[in-house]
Amino acid sequence: MNATSRPRPPISLNGVHYRWPDRPVVVVCNDGGDPAYLDHAVKKGIVPNVARFMATGFSAIAQCVIPSFTCPNNVSIVTGSPPSIHGISGNFYLEPDTGHAVVMTGPELMRSTTILAEFSRQGAKVASITAKDKLRQQLGKDMDIAGGSINFSSEKADRCTARENGIENVLDLVGMPLPDLYSPELSLFVLAAGVKLLETEKPLIMYLSLTDYIQHKYAPGEPEADRYYRDMDALFGRLHELGAVVGLIADHGMRDKSNPDGSPKVVWLQDALDREFGKDATTVICPITDYFVAHHGALGSFVRVYCGGSRDRNGAHARATPEAVIGFVQTLPGIEAVYDKTTAARLFDLPIDREGDVVVISDGETCIGATPAAHDLSALGGHPLRTHGGIAESRVPFILNYPLNATYAERAARGGLRSFHIFDFAINGVEA
Ligand SMILES: [Zn+2]
Repeated sequence: MNATSRPRPPISLNGVHYRWPDRPVVVVCNDGGDPAYLDHAVKKGIVPNVARFMATGFSAIAQCVIPSFTCPNNVSIVTGSPPSIHGISGNFYLEPDTGHAVVMTGPELMRSTTILAEFSRQGAKVASITAKDKLRQQLGKDMDIAGGSINFSSEKADRCTARENGIENVLDLVGMPLPDLYSPELSLFVLAAGVKLLETEKPLIMYLSLTDYIQHKYAPGEPEADRYYRDMDALFGRLHELGAVVGLIADHGMRDKSNPDGSPKVVWLQDALDREFGKDATTVICPITDYFVAHHGALGSFVRVYCGGSRDRNGAHARATPEAVIGFVQTLPGIEAVYDKTTAARLFDLPIDREGDVVVISDGETCIGATPAAHDLSALGGHPLRTHGGIAESRVPFILNYPLNATYAERAARGGLRSFHIFDFAINGVEA
């Protein structure tokens, strides 16, 4: 900035003022990047760049949004807000009036614009790259593509158009073939594309959102996980060398939820409720469900129960009140917490109009399904089930490659760090 130019007014969104950064800011969301992976990788010496960021920059454990699922947390990160503000609390919910399941992965149900969109609409070049295409539209909501910003997924990197994505010929740019949907390359492609964009287009703000394929399949220390973390680390190092402020975050953690014999440790909640209250008295919704079920068989650790009994003319159904469901579910093994709608919305900052009548959260060793028939466990391919959604998977690494300024150091020291503070800290909080 020269002596005569005045600083641009900050970008304000959801109560946070974001200054115009002096250097590019890149936030990477390592999907499913439980702290256990980095702990292991740092100890083993396979992530030298991350280790250096942690030593000379800033490193802490932050709390993600519960349900500790991908969509709510990615939307929280790009809006800097909890789901009560942005409205996305799962992959779908039951519409109260109709009882129909409504998919929540589109941008139309988002109640907030994004940090990316606001910078983009004020003239900054912004880029969002995601592994799975299902997140692309939410992350790109309101971004000014015609004005030069970029939004694409590695899943559909071969189909990018200037009009839709703000970029073409991505495979040539990155120099990698189109990655398989179920591969570590789907994420590595995102990072490699981010490096290329930083070298060529130089976006001011960039968001790189990976996929949790590796973490769902492999525990910390398995050779495939080590290789993935080593490969990611090299690309994090390149982002740093290119002069960016780099913020590393995860959308949620990941835990092994299998029995000693390798079978998934599941509470079949719909079965249990049907036995107790009668068939059709309740509906269990597993909001982790999406079309990428091979990762987890749609088994997560947070489900919603809808008590339709009161609307039913069959008197037998009337017993399934939220109070009765809570009382019953509390007796089931493997359950960590059961809340009514109001309590869940208050505790976890969730939009109450999209909440179930009862929220059920399993413990760190257990997951919850509806009925065995509703979940395709063959999709796990013999791997022990690793999944997320509950409180046990809500701790995530929060790392910056530069130290915090005094204001943000003080704020971090007070505790209560949330994963959706990462853009605030990366833009306003570092002495780069
Ligand atoms: Zn995720």
